[in-house]
Amino acid sequence: MPSRPFDEMSDENVHATHDDVQTRPCDNPECSQRLTWSGNRGRPPLFCSANCRKRALYAAASLVQRIEVRHLALAGDLTYRREREIRSELARLEWLLSAYPVSARG
Ligand SMILES: [Zn+2]
Repeated sequence: MPSRPFDEMSDENVHATHDDVQTRPCDNPECSQRLTWSGNRGRPPLFCSANCRKRALYAAASLVQRIEVRHLALAGDLTYRREREIRSELARLEWLLSAYPVSARG
């Protein structure tokens, strides 16, 4: 058994998260930078840099393209086994793409 009650520990976690609301993550899911914005000047930043935005757009577009190719392949004449393979690749690619927010979808 833990030495402290569970409720007390989860309370501390809530506070730790709350103290960090001054920043938010970059919209590139591959990036670990956090962004700050004063709230009163210019457009709020979604990415840490123009280059990071470009990389996220490229990665998301590449996933979208690979997904489209597999959707087209499914329309063809396939063995049951090949269809299963493509469907599982599709599920995995869509899962990867789900990490990219709207701002990275072009
Ligand atoms: Zn970034």
